[in-house]
Amino acid sequence: MTYKFTFSTNNNTMTGKYYLTVIILLIFVLFGVYPAGRKADRETLNLEEYFSPEEMDFIKANGIKSRDLEPYLKYQKFNVFKYYQYREAREKYNFSYLESLNYVNNPNYYRFYHNPQKALFAGAPHILVNKCYFLSEDYEPEGLVNAREYEIDYIVREGEEIYLKKEVLDSYQKMYDAAKAAGIELMIFSGYRDYEKQSVLYYQVYNQDDSISARPGFSEHQTGLALDISRPGDGLTLLFEQSPSFAWLMANGHKYGFILRFPPGKESITGYSYEPWHFRYVGAIAAEIREKNLTLEEYIFSNMEI
Ligand SMILES: [Zn+2]
Repeated sequence: MTYKFTFSTNNNTMTGKYYLTVIILLIFVLFGVYPAGRKADRETLNLEEYFSPEEMDFIKANGIKSRDLEPYLKYQKFNVFKYYQYREAREKYNFSYLESLNYVNNPNYYRFYHNPQKALFAGAPHILVNKCYFLSEDYEPEGLVNAREYEIDYIVREGEEIYLKKEVLDSYQKMYDAAKAAGIELMIFSGYRDYEKQSVLYYQVYNQDDSISARPGFSEHQTGLALDISRPGDGLTLLFEQSPSFAWLMANGHKYGFILRFPPGKESITGYSYEPWHFRYVGAIAAEIREKNLTLEEYIFSNMEI
């Protein structure tokens, strides 16, 4: 069998074979037949680079395949000895790989005041402080600024200044301006609260009622990222929910990085009854939290390694 190519001026068969080879190779590349090579890589994934000799023994003894381990390898807290627990959680709850990892590694994630841990992501706008994650007595956020430095409305109480982190008030100012332009009234009722003050509230004002007050160290007001917003007539009551201000905040707050932190129907996740006035600055992730109707807890569980 011989090939004759019309573009081969001297009808040279060798040149024809050369071109044919090039064309076939091009077809392979263009149509992605080449991934046979990628598959080979996958099968030769060097597990020894990722696992200790003890872990390798466990993997071999159980016949765990490298392709089953691969989706977990990018996670720092993956523990191969818990492989079967992760797999069970994925199947039972339809979790993603990350969710199964978070679930198994953090059995107390939603168990209030049960073996609590230090706050997650300290220093970041998505820091997690709740009834499972706390701040130490001496934790004071960096960059607190006084609300007086801004052109905004806030409640004035005797001997009580309102402080929040600068990034929060900078963003709040923009939100306030947009609200004002739309004829909407917003007033800050409280911001940063230190451990000491939370202590007084919990023990003396609220009589250790866990449903309405956080224990000292467990209030996210201590992060400098949480604030209570209402209107003077409504105060910190459910009345605020009926106001145009609340409706406006629900429609626009996320554009400025703010989320309603204790929404209705999520009490078993947040640990708090519905508070239409308590907002939390979380930064860029606010949009997704709002869009998917999540709490900060749920967002972190599904998107971040904990
Ligand atoms: Zn609050």
